[in-house]
Amino acid sequence: MDIIHISAECYPAAKVGGLADVVGSLPKYQILLGHTASVIMPFYHSKFSHSHEFSPVFSGIARLGHTNFNFQVLELLNNQLGFDLYLIDIPGLFDRPNIYSYHDDTERFITFQIAALNWLNQRIGTPDVVHCHDQQTGFIPFMMSKVREYSKFEHVPSVFTIHNGQYQGQFGFDKLHFLPPFHSYFNGLVEWHHLINPLASAIKCAWAVTTVSPSYLDEIGYEMKGMEDLLRHERGKSHGILNGIDAEVWNPQTDPMLEHKFSLKTVDEGKKASKEILCRQFGLNPEKPLFTFIGRLVGEKGADVLPDIIYSISKFNPGEQNILILGSGEKNIEHGLLHLESMFKGSYCSHIGYNEKLSHLIYAGADFLLMPSRVEPCGLNQMYALRYGTIPIVRRTGGLRDTVTDIGDQGFGICHDQCSTFDVIHSMQRAKTLFKDPKAMKKIRKQIMQIDHSWNRAALEYVELYQSLKI
Ligand code: ADP
Repeated sequence: MDIIHISAECYPAAKVGGLADVVGSLPKYQILLGHTASVIMPFYHSKFSHSHEFSPVFSGIARLGHTNFNFQVLELLNNQLGFDLYLIDIPGLFDRPNIYSYHDDTERFITFQIAALNWLNQRIGTPDVVHCHDQQTGFIPFMMSKVREYSKFEHVPSVFTIHNGQYQGQFGFDKLHFLPPFHSYFNGLVEWHHLINPLASAIKCAWAVTTVSPSYLDEIGYEMKGMEDLLRHERGKSHGILNGIDAEVWNPQTDPMLEHKFSLKTVDEGKKASKEILCRQFGLNPEKPLFTFIGRLVGEKGADVLPDIIYSISKFNPGEQNILILGSGEKNIEHGLLHLESMFKGSYCSHIGYNEKLSHLIYAGADFLLMPSRVEPCGLNQMYALRYGTIPIVRRTGGLRDTVTDIGDQGFGICHDQCSTFDVIHSMQRAKTLFKDPKAMKKIRKQIMQIDHSWNRAALEYVELYQSLKI
């Protein structure tokens, strides 16, 4: 099959979170299954774009309302990603350092979607499936089926994956004219609750909708920012496919970001050496259990309860544990975390910012990874942690529910039900008891490192889904 992925992120070209990891690995595994898969993404002015070479393959014009944008499609040269990567350069809209959070994100991503379809429209033939990811590409299924200009794609299946339903991208009808012309009869296909909503449009128009874990699919039928009815209505064409991880990138035996690589046989030595580096770097005690958190500092991840957890456990159980946080996000959470550093020097430290290399070292050197998420569509961190022998402590939600079983239920992780200081600290106390039993720790580490969360299974599930849509 010829599979086209369209996304705002793709690792290593541009990454904010898990979306990039998925789009940067799923196509590679689809190619291993004998298919053709490529990715279309915006060309951001990032470190990646400055340090790589590209060759122009198409120049065109994208019309956005009353304005025309010139764009160029660039193909990555000397590509070692394992799939073809095409970046759409739209001067004036994407020649900026960040991926999101500009006042004109609506205009930026509509233009990107129009440019992507304009380019595909003039190519000979059509792909077998167009797979779109998250709301930044949410109008594509609608445009493929209802905009006359793109009628060539009317019979091409579109698949839409909800990586994160919290972000819907809605805007007012005053911007309706940004979309390419279509019959007003179809207005309802882009609307939700009196706003234009690309996520809702994709859920309505895509031939199939997927979520990144089966539990998340169940949960969003009850809670997804006012879109529950729509999700329940479209349940028949929806599928929960648990994400995989790129087992080549995330391999403690070969990880170039680790000074001390380790295998199943050498896990104890490898983790000890990595923990020592971390503890030296952050002034922590390598003899004590090391709890960590990696991620966006937002309420969705339960990051707002972290300062309270750190304060309470460090005050009432001083010297019993280390805590290390890596993340960035809401300023009040960042300030709360930084503020506590001087109070609990020697047992708590945070690194505010995004640091890929440090994240690998933390997965390798930590004993436990905290994920108190309120919402977790899939969660990749817990899967990376498992592969690096770090025991996840998770709230039972979404993909965390599907991937982590509590040690009390013959599992290998520690689970709790609420995103609260009490629940998380209770789990941390259980973890400390476990840490005191090196034999049990060793057994669990070996067990979790052998769990196979690679893309082999999920890549096949997606291909089977695409094939079921063929007409
Ligand atoms: P999200 O909801 O943010 O997409 P996921 O668990 O799906 O959450 O994916 C998060 C990805 O981003 C993981 O690869 C994680 O290691 C990475 N990550 C998040 N924050 C940071 C950070 N501050 N530094 C390095 N990597 C980070």
